[in-house]
Amino acid sequence: MKRLTLLAFVIFSIDIYSQTICGTPERLNATTNIELNEKEQLKALRSHIKTHHKTTHPPLLIPTVVHIVSYLGIGDISDAQVYDGIRILNEDFDKKNQDTANIRQEFAPYLGDANIQFVLAKIDPDGNPTNGIVRLDTNLVPHAEPGYGDFDNVKYASYWPSDKYYNIWVVRNILPGGVNGYAQYPGTDFTYGGPWNTYGSVVRYNHFGSIELAGASDGRTVTHEVGHTFGLYHTFLSAANDCGGDCDTSLDEVCDTPPAFLSFNCNPIVNTCSNDSIGPSPFATDMPDQIENFMGYNSCTSMFTKEQVDRMRGFISFFPTLSGLSSNQNLIETGIIPASITSISSPTDFIVYPNPSNGIIFIQNNTNEQMDFEVLDLTGKLVANLMIQPGRQSLNLQNGVYFIKEKFTQRTSRIIVVQSTD
Ligand SMILES: [Zn+2]
Repeated sequence: MKRLTLLAFVIFSIDIYSQTICGTPERLNATTNIELNEKEQLKALRSHIKTHHKTTHPPLLIPTVVHIVSYLGIGDISDAQVYDGIRILNEDFDKKNQDTANIRQEFAPYLGDANIQFVLAKIDPDGNPTNGIVRLDTNLVPHAEPGYGDFDNVKYASYWPSDKYYNIWVVRNILPGGVNGYAQYPGTDFTYGGPWNTYGSVVRYNHFGSIELAGASDGRTVTHEVGHTFGLYHTFLSAANDCGGDCDTSLDEVCDTPPAFLSFNCNPIVNTCSNDSIGPSPFATDMPDQIENFMGYNSCTSMFTKEQVDRMRGFISFFPTLSGLSSNQNLIETGIIPASITSISSPTDFIVYPNPSNGIIFIQNNTNEQMDFEVLDLTGKLVANLMIQPGRQSLNLQNGVYFIKEKFTQRTSRIIVVQSTD
């Protein structure tokens, strides 16, 4: 068990937001104006998620900043540890983590691919070059619980605009002790959401990455917290053992995660609730608890489910602050799109199609002469050099976002490849 060390803390403080949000249906029946707003917003979100249900989601790039808030060197992790933390986060959000092989047979069909990549920003809010890592020396220690004077204090000390960057704060400690990470839900109208200038994830320095100062960690705290920031709740209700009701409206509001009680270890394998098939559930019978899920506290987590992915992508597309992160304009302004590509054009003398594609794209040369192209991936790395005669030529590409650049004029088409591998 690496996410936390003391059972006692879980009861009242681990991820305090989720503790209250998970499985509190009475909130949805509330009568005050604020709560009614929230009820309406939740209703709109639910229907949005339903209409945006997809078997595959196109790649999403999120410019990211990591603020390292240390004090006299304590908690000041290296760049290498930051890169390792981002690597783990990206593997988990792109279904590239090796341990999906351990997912039990009954849950393997529900393994989801969020297809999200967090990329450290290369241009800061002032337009200056950056490696996406900000270091701050201060004795501030954030409290994870609202209502305390030191709640979220590090966020006010260092923050980049949430409509351009995803903020992660790596801190030397979190109060109350024993908490290794906490997050803010998206949406200003939600009781447990908040203003966008405190939106993001907070992680203890020895739980971000799995090397150096985090050598004893699996590095998944950030995966779990980022899941919260995209609208996911715990797969268990932490305040009380409760199996909820209909799977789409109670507890975590996700149907392919069976309701469960809190558990930590993976052995013995637990099966708490037996109402797993209530509501629009994909399960016909009682299932064991999904100890593999990133949104639990078990020590063997390795998956988001497909419905969790739909929910996260639904939340992201619902809020303009989040959906704008991946726009062409923002990717250029934060330096994610390589500097050599300064404009995305739609030329007529060559056409790249279909876009999005399922892996095979065509480049049509409409001139009478050979045209030379470079195919670049998102990091600007050359994937292929092509000489295309008048007419068209096909090209096979892996899932991802690419730039097809005509060498002579440097004009570029951006294409998205979505492979139906699920
Ligand atoms: Zn949590």
